[in-house]
Amino acid sequence: MSAITNQMGLAATSNESSDSTGGQPGHISPLDPADWDDLRSLGSRMVGDMLSHLKTVRDRPVWQPVPGDVRTRLSQPLNKEGIGEQAAYEEFTRDVLPYGIGNLHPRFWGWVIGSGTPLGALSELLAATMNANVSGINGAPVLVEQQTIEWLKDLLGYPMGASGLFVSGASMANMVGLAVGLSERAGFDVLKDGLARAPKPPVLYTSSQTHFSVGKTARTLGIGSAGVRALPVTTDYAMDVNALEASIREDRSRGLQPFAIAATAGTTNTGAFDDLNAVADVAEREGLWLHVDGAFGAFAALVPELKHLVSGMERADSLAFDLHKWFLAPIEAGVVFVKDAQAHAKAFTEDAGYVKGLSGGLANYDVSYYGLSPQLTRGFKALKVWMALKAHGVAPYADVVRRNIEQARHLKRLVDEHEELELMASVSLNVVCFRYVGRKHNIDDREIDRLNTDILIKLQEDGTAAPTSTVLHGRFVLRVCITNHRTRLDDLDLLVTEVVRLGHHLHG
Ligand SMILES: *Cc1c(COP(=O)(O)O)cnc(C)c1O
Repeated sequence: MSAITNQMGLAATSNESSDSTGGQPGHISPLDPADWDDLRSLGSRMVGDMLSHLKTVRDRPVWQPVPGDVRTRLSQPLNKEGIGEQAAYEEFTRDVLPYGIGNLHPRFWGWVIGSGTPLGALSELLAATMNANVSGINGAPVLVEQQTIEWLKDLLGYPMGASGLFVSGASMANMVGLAVGLSERAGFDVLKDGLARAPKPPVLYTSSQTHFSVGKTARTLGIGSAGVRALPVTTDYAMDVNALEASIREDRSRGLQPFAIAATAGTTNTGAFDDLNAVADVAEREGLWLHVDGAFGAFAALVPELKHLVSGMERADSLAFDLHKWFLAPIEAGVVFVKDAQAHAKAFTEDAGYVKGLSGGLANYDVSYYGLSPQLTRGFKALKVWMALKAHGVAPYADVVRRNIEQARHLKRLVDEHEELELMASVSLNVVCFRYVGRKHNIDDREIDRLNTDILIKLQEDGTAAPTSTVLHGRFVLRVCITNHRTRLDDLDLLVTEVVRLGHHLHG
């Protein structure tokens, strides 16, 4: 049967060349081309241009500001007649493609943003062509997502009975995990009664180094900022577990309802790891939900000599991580796992006539993804990860993690050895925070902040390198976060040379 279908498909392809007038009988909308060969050649050009763009990325500046004339064109009102596919693509290559955010480049180390891969870009084309709504509808896309989720549980060492799904990123994954945690541990039926009827206000524990998406989640869920304890950290930026226990005790004595701990495996600021086993012990003892945000740090699990960092991650009731950061999948792709699959389903289950499952056909659902997150219509994000794992296996991804960590250590050494540079946080993973302090050590901190701000802006605007910044203990620091398979060690040598050169130049 499938062989016949394939033959018919092939036959259709070879017969579809258009007639000389460009039109095909029954052509009713320009949204499908009248002449498929025209669009096919434009499509081939697009694919070729995109691959060339990636191949030559090192030859271009890391980043360049959008010029004035381009800004002007990008603020024009719509031409309602349409200009055609060719012309639209010319405008894209002229006004859009050259002015990206820089993250394809080997010397982009800003925020936590992956570099993407050529296969990832092509996989997006495949997924967009299928245009599947992976809400649960019977077809291969749900099976691909389920299979990919199984592979990821296995790779990260998370219990295989857990449920999981693709979401936009770790922000949404944090929200889903903590929403399930609230429904399970609020101490009353929050799904039915709502927080307005909470006998005791629920409290969430995290650290001062948590990602701001945890605070957003608390506000979105209605817990409010007042229901979040941002606990102090130790000198290596890990959650202070003694403070955690004391805070839970105090909140209980005040009649509040501690419900969850959000720990971090790889903080955004410095790449620090909370002691996941110690935090899990507290969660178990206190009956709290343990959520772990492993946005990028979870991938330490791929490297045997780094596995100790994520020890305890498998004890989390829910785990959030990104595929678009250190796994280099095209943006967007994040995943949430929930250990108790029933609790996960309970928190988001909905029923309606229009999603009624049937014993066959499209509505014979394998899994109801619409009942596992706030989303109904969901893109086929899993495909790019499925393709990546199928095509490359795991080793190249583990290598990127290992290499980026070696590169961070290399940069740390360069900073340590240079008398005009100061390391600003310990380096536990792939993040290096440092600043230029000059030779004389007689500049005051406010001036050093200003100087480093100027250095950073100049580095980026020159197109040389793109670290970004953060604030540690009130001080402005240069922050290099390497989630980039194109970076080489000499790129970091160049960074150090340039920071020092700009420091001299700008300090006068
Ligand atoms: C990036 C990040 C997030 C947010 O993830 P998004 O994919 O941007 O939504 C959450 N936590 C940590 C630790 C992060 O680094």
